[in-house]
Amino acid sequence: MTPPEDLLKRYWGYSSFLPHQKEIIGSVLKGQDTLAIMATGGGKSLCYQLPALCLGGLTVVVSPLISLMKDQVDDLNERGILAVAFNSSMEYRVRTKIEADLKNGKIRLLFVSPERCMQAGFLDLIKAAPIRLIAVDEAHCISEWGHNFRPEYRQLAQLKKLFPAVPLVALTATAIPEVRRDICQQLGISDAHEFVGSFNRKNLMYRVVEKKNPKILLLTFLSRHQHESGIIYCMSKKETEEVARDLRRRGYNAQAYHAGLSKQVRTKVQDGFIKNTITIVCATIAFGMGIDKPDVRFVIHYDIPKTVESYYQETGRAGRDGRPSECVLFYSRGDIARVRSMLEHDHMTERNLRASLRKLQEMTEYCEAITCRRRFLLSYFGEESPDEHCTSCDNCNHPAARNDGTEPARLIVECVKELSSNFGIDLITDLLRGSTCARIRDYHLDALAAYGTGKQYSKAQYRTWINELVRQGYLARTGDRYLVIGMTDKGEDLLRGKNRVMLPAQEKMKTKTTKAPRA
Ligand code: ADP
Ligand code: ZN
Repeated sequence: MTPPEDLLKRYWGYSSFLPHQKEIIGSVLKGQDTLAIMATGGGKSLCYQLPALCLGGLTVVVSPLISLMKDQVDDLNERGILAVAFNSSMEYRVRTKIEADLKNGKIRLLFVSPERCMQAGFLDLIKAAPIRLIAVDEAHCISEWGHNFRPEYRQLAQLKKLFPAVPLVALTATAIPEVRRDICQQLGISDAHEFVGSFNRKNLMYRVVEKKNPKILLLTFLSRHQHESGIIYCMSKKETEEVARDLRRRGYNAQAYHAGLSKQVRTKVQDGFIKNTITIVCATIAFGMGIDKPDVRFVIHYDIPKTVESYYQETGRAGRDGRPSECVLFYSRGDIARVRSMLEHDHMTERNLRASLRKLQEMTEYCEAITCRRRFLLSYFGEESPDEHCTSCDNCNHPAARNDGTEPARLIVECVKELSSNFGIDLITDLLRGSTCARIRDYHLDALAAYGTGKQYSKAQYRTWINELVRQGYLARTGDRYLVIGMTDKGEDLLRGKNRVMLPAQEKMKTKTTKAPRA
């Protein structure tokens, strides 16, 4: 077998591997089932393309998007590697040629969609070929925990049963443990060797700004990023069109992209963006999967994404060329309520609803965090950060001043204790501020000792502090939907002992609204 390094040089012109590629390729070449988890842009494709060359025979690649397949096939053919995408629209003549080439082992890589892959005709075809490797790309699509579940991926469970002797490599950029477990279980590769790359995108700058006057926020930002390519993610189709129209009026070359547009229009927008005839795409989540544009300089979230994973994926489309790029999220409590109500009306099972609300809660915590955002994202994916503070997130660049907050901390913890860990942030706040709102009256909470004991602090301060007390372990989130704030042992200690607690001096979001986003 020619050494992988030689083939890498000969066919790709690269002199070395990217992190983890060598180990992953080594595992595959040993015939081991392998799970490769690498951030977007990490170089996953090479992890099956190169083994396909080394192993000879046929490698079948299951891939979810026709456009993705086509790009890869063109790219491989240009390098002199015979690759073919198998689809339903092929002419009879082309198809018979492919069938012959498959049998005689000429075709190195055969790309196929998950639906087609499991059809009898296709299976017969590859059974007759010298099949050496199966690759499942975007493997997180198999998991309901993932942000991109595709039911047709579930059928791929049969692959390992049909081809027990052929090694299978699954690839994804999603690392959360539930998804990892699901992939291995569903694909029947529980003994797979796992390789997890770093999720730290060092050239991305993360920022959250309070969403007041989003149009102005957006224009201020863009005025400092003239002629740069970027994506603006919006929650609804209507909003993508409105924002795009608004920007066009201001002279920006912006277009909307969403699933409600015709295929023709979508392709036009996508191609225009890649060729830089369109600078800004205002899109729903339908946009982006499989777009390999290296010089996207910013990703703006006009609305809150539903999960931290999708946030990470979407922001990951910025800066694939390694140059500094910006990720800005417009955050408002109102949007959380909007998404929450959307989820609640989505006819999900109770279990899925609970999972979705929990994910939304995690996303909220990201937005409201006052510590390093990069650290938050990395720890979400189970990765430790290299540093306590990065130098490229808003919280590290403008850290909240901290004061001795022992007094408000005690007030809050005392109040949670008196409420027997039954209520959420809003009610705790109302109670401490001595509000006369209906909920307080209905539950007769104005009779409690804590009622009105903390009138001097604002609602926003309480929100920041309670979140921070949870982060520091004095309180905990409980209940099915993670909305209830509960006591912890550390909280009990605070009430008994002489611990001092440091809390952010002032409400962080407020200081940010006065500043326009910095370029
Ligand atoms: P992913 O699928 O993980 O998002 P790709 O497979 O598309 O990433 O690779 C991302 C980029 O890195 C591509 O432009 C690819 O050509 C490049 N690349 C892959 N492997 C190497 C390598 N060993 N050296 C240099 N560049 C590489
Ligand atoms: Zn940071």
